[in-house]
Amino acid sequence: MTGSARGSSPAPSLAVREDTGPPVIDLSSGQILEPLPEAARAAIRRATESPEASGYAPGPGRADLRTAVADHYARRTGAATDPDHVTVTAGARHGLFAAVAAAAAGREVLVPAPHWSHYPTVIRQAGAVPVTVAGDPLHGLLVDPARLDAAWTPRTGAVLVNSPVNPSGACYDEGRLRELRAWAAARNVRLIVDDIYWAYGSHIDTRLLPGPHEVVVGGASKVYALAGLRIGWVWAEPALGAAVREIVEHTTGPVSGPAQAAAAAVLAYENGTGGTGAAVAGAGVARRADRLARQRAEAVQAMAAVPYLRPVPPAGGIYLCLDASEALGLRLLGAGDDQELCRALRSGAGVGLRAGSTFGMPGFLRLCVAESHEVLLTAAHRLTTCLTAAAREVTHH
Ligand code: PMP
Repeated sequence: MTGSARGSSPAPSLAVREDTGPPVIDLSSGQILEPLPEAARAAIRRATESPEASGYAPGPGRADLRTAVADHYARRTGAATDPDHVTVTAGARHGLFAAVAAAAAGREVLVPAPHWSHYPTVIRQAGAVPVTVAGDPLHGLLVDPARLDAAWTPRTGAVLVNSPVNPSGACYDEGRLRELRAWAAARNVRLIVDDIYWAYGSHIDTRLLPGPHEVVVGGASKVYALAGLRIGWVWAEPALGAAVREIVEHTTGPVSGPAQAAAAAVLAYENGTGGTGAAVAGAGVARRADRLARQRAEAVQAMAAVPYLRPVPPAGGIYLCLDASEALGLRLLGAGDDQELCRALRSGAGVGLRAGSTFGMPGFLRLCVAESHEVLLTAAHRLTTCLTAAAREVTHH
């Protein structure tokens, strides 16, 4: 599997060669590989040629990037936004760390499950206590105020909401987001909005508004396909923003200037071009969102042909979850749980997936759909061959 094409642009394949066995099709990580746009390359060249190139970038982040982030939120929400309320972080995960540490250290943070695998650890490292809240099986495993209320204690400091959800792809709609915001205000806790996949959902949140009960964490990794640049940000009201800046200052210090310059160029470009598709997305973002919608559908279709695994169609995002209860029930490949099945499929089928249990979704497997149709079909074919043979083994013994 080499030279897989993503969209119209050729890009390096995610396939990796293991020491033993055939090349593995690795669908386990969540990145969107695209060539860096020329605007980003030019910005990096300019930044590295400037007389200050070897120096620190400004502590809270470069003004051009903070302005581009603020402009993005202004376009999206229709509200006036202030670049001084934006702090640049080393990726969204450092933004989450800083936001949790600033907003909820020593308190409990409610985490709707399923959730991104890193949330519980990031929250603990930020000095808070993660409390998972099971989503509603009848409503896409999303949470509602009643479920949050059942988990609330006087120690609750924040609730961390992500939409579309990594891993399930479920999306909060406008009404539910309004309810969650009202609940946070009524309970006097902080809604931490993880906005990293904002353009890839069936609903785009246009009501983001930092204040005493809300802080927004975003980044360039997913919607702008710039994961390797490690650019994230926190959009917060001034008091919380000051605490976030203090944490950034004493953890990473200023983020790489050339990387910020590149992200600023890409965001400014997206802000400047009119919306196609989703009204608030620039041309590049809208094209990427359309391509991902197609790739989600292609992944569902490809995986529907695999026996013993059942795709759960996602409403958004860059992932697809497979219900593995049938394969696990038969103990195919000797696997008693999703982690064992993941390992067995990597070595037996040559397909790298992620175990759902790390996302609070045991019994499921997650794959990234940001791949060509050809790669997804080959992965499905490999899974089919491997699981069919494994089922034959089971019936023969
Ligand atoms: N939030 C979610 C829900 C994610 O899935 C990820 C990355 N997979 C991040 C945050 C972190 O993004 P970054 O690469 O910018 O640190």
